Amino acid sequence: MSGYVIAPWALPSLPVVGDSRRFPVRRIFCVGRNYAAHTREMGADPAREPPFFFMKPAGAIVAEGGEVPFPLATNDLHHEVELVVALSGGGSNIAPATAESHIFGYAVGIDLTRRDVQAIAKQRSWPWEAAKGLDHGAPCGALHAAAEVGHPKRGAITLDVDGARRQEGDLAQMIWSVPEVIGYLSRLFTLQPGDLIFTGTPAGVGPVVTGNRLNAEVAGLSPLIVTLTNAASTAVPYS
Ligand code: MN
Repeated sequence: MSGYVIAPWALPSLPVVGDSRRFPVRRIFCVGRNYAAHTREMGADPAREPPFFFMKPAGAIVAEGGEVPFPLATNDLHHEVELVVALSGGGSNIAPATAESHIFGYAVGIDLTRRDVQAIAKQRSWPWEAAKGLDHGAPCGALHAAAEVGHPKRGAITLDVDGARRQEGDLAQMIWSVPEVIGYLSRLFTLQPGDLIFTGTPAGVGPVVTGNRLNAEVAGLSPLIVTLTNAASTAVPYS
């Protein structure tokens, strides 16, 4: 470990379908409320206001899912299946018309959310990091290169828990398209290769518990399967 005063950690990364090389993850941006039906179920107005964003740490990636330890400090962990966009380019103030040229590919992700912690944050006007940036909070499937699968604009997006359908929508229901999301996000941040964008979730979010098996799918992409493990005794709530 020459050169570092503590041991450096591995670069978070995702596998790429059909390629032995991996995609290095720099940052994880997420879009809030990008499907009208989900916006309504969260008690908000799906008027077409500009999209808003939050982040998760890159280390929250759980590549290709698998076993995910049930998080700390929640009794209301929610699943949110999302289309994930991986950037090979970047820049600021990107025009939506050229945004797809910055995209490497696509994957299925789950935006794991401590809904109880989020409710406290909303009530007290606190930031959302504790609700969204949790350890292991960004399971993500294998990436498919856009050169192979194109740029999906419609198609089923679903999530099953223990075989029962919980979320079902279509990519065409996004309030803000992927190029529009990149346009808005690049007005706030200079986007860079390695950045991921979780593009929002359709309706049907709900709680999961230790032992549940989550199967998240987007038509044409590799499914993402997550099993919640580590029956922690009783969660110590944060309130
Ligand atoms: Mn989300």
